[in-house]
Amino acid sequence: MRMHWTIIAGLAVALAMPAKAQQKTGLAAAADAMGATTLASIQYTGSGSVFSFGQAFEPGQRWPLFVQRAYTASVDYLAPGMRLVQVRSQGEHPPRGGGAQAVGADQRTVQVVSGKFAWQEGGPQAVPNSAAAQDRLLQMWTTPHGVIKAAEANAASVTGNTITFKLDGREVKATLNAQNLVEKVSYLSTNEVIGDYPIEIAYTDYADFGGVKFPRHIVQNEDGFPTLDIAVSEVKPNAVVSVDVPANVRNAPPPAPLRPTVDKLADGVWAFTTPNARNWAVEMADHVVVVEGIGSEARSLAVMDEIAKVIPNKPIRYVINTHAHYDHSGGLRTYPAKGVTVVTHEMNKPCFEKVWARPRTIAPDLLSKSPRPLMFETVSDKKVMTDGTRTIELYYMKGTSHNMYNLLVYLPNEKLVYWGDGYNPPDGNDPRDTARTPEQMIDLYRVITQNKLDVKTIAPAHGAGPKPYENLLKAIGLIPL
Ligand SMILES: [Zn+2]
Repeated sequence: MRMHWTIIAGLAVALAMPAKAQQKTGLAAAADAMGATTLASIQYTGSGSVFSFGQAFEPGQRWPLFVQRAYTASVDYLAPGMRLVQVRSQGEHPPRGGGAQAVGADQRTVQVVSGKFAWQEGGPQAVPNSAAAQDRLLQMWTTPHGVIKAAEANAASVTGNTITFKLDGREVKATLNAQNLVEKVSYLSTNEVIGDYPIEIAYTDYADFGGVKFPRHIVQNEDGFPTLDIAVSEVKPNAVVSVDVPANVRNAPPPAPLRPTVDKLADGVWAFTTPNARNWAVEMADHVVVVEGIGSEARSLAVMDEIAKVIPNKPIRYVINTHAHYDHSGGLRTYPAKGVTVVTHEMNKPCFEKVWARPRTIAPDLLSKSPRPLMFETVSDKKVMTDGTRTIELYYMKGTSHNMYNLLVYLPNEKLVYWGDGYNPPDGNDPRDTARTPEQMIDLYRVITQNKLDVKTIAPAHGAGPKPYENLLKAIGLIPL
């Protein structure tokens, strides 16, 4: 334990007795060692690697890597608020996994939180996203000095070198090293696919920046694999940080409940679209097949309401899952919660069974509140689902770089195709997706041509649609624009 002596300059020698030793312990010692007490704000900059959580190439493997060209966090502990500027570029060569690979030009994102408000900067005006405020504040209060301040404000307990407190109902643990500097912070987060999962942040290689100690190496792990690994190059204690809430963010109405727009793709085939997510319902003789449990439980319930309107009086019996990325399977559990059979690649079944059995204490869902037996049908290379009239064909997208166990959905009579990822048709007349290079679009084209599919219309999971199939061919340069 580091000792702190009260010494009044010039009087120390004159005193008959030495000044009484004041040995600060626990939180106070950490605050002193870190230089947290007089720190009202901080800005730190680094670079390294960033990884796309929930977008692994293969279920259970590490998150895909991107280059983090820049990472600048500006924290105002008093507001409280934080602005996080990140610039990323392609990290996997060749592309491997999701997270909107392969990145073309560098992508810059600016995320801000200020109290209960959150927004995105970088466009012509701020884009409100106050649903993200809770997570971003948690991120802010788990920075090296933030965690000390949050512990002080939330009646933390200290046992040995471990500080424990509750923030927003979640337990946060901070571990101190031998110099009383914060070396690790951990807490539980939640995700629709995997339920409760651990976030662990390691702060190492401390240096002094104008009396304030700050780690020069930050590694964040989420559910066992890194999501961030940066070397810190510059630290400015008490930097000027402005997180004033823009008027359009302050006055933004609360987000409306999700209501999908409904498009009829063909007789008995419907698409349900919410911002950046689409799925289908296919009417069979005596039941409904849903294509993709994309998004969240809230979205799946909203889609079920719409399905009941366009295909009344037929039960949903199957839900097809293209792949196990968390955006595509976030709303999948809602279906088995209603007794619906999940159709997925055979290699995804054990993964879903494993992660769906995990605890969900932070955000219980329908299936965790009322568990019921899971029913799966699996696909190896190809599967045909038919009622004699309508046919759905599922193809294993072997050899694609987006995800190891990915399915393509094809309706041969309607000449319709659905995929999870690869090409997201943009709005407007130019079919090129300029943010990405075409590797994964070419993968998609290869699977379609290898299986000799006769495609007329595409209405995939992301992007605008329905669109003509020619748009994919134009996007990869096979036919002129
Ligand atoms: Zn994906």
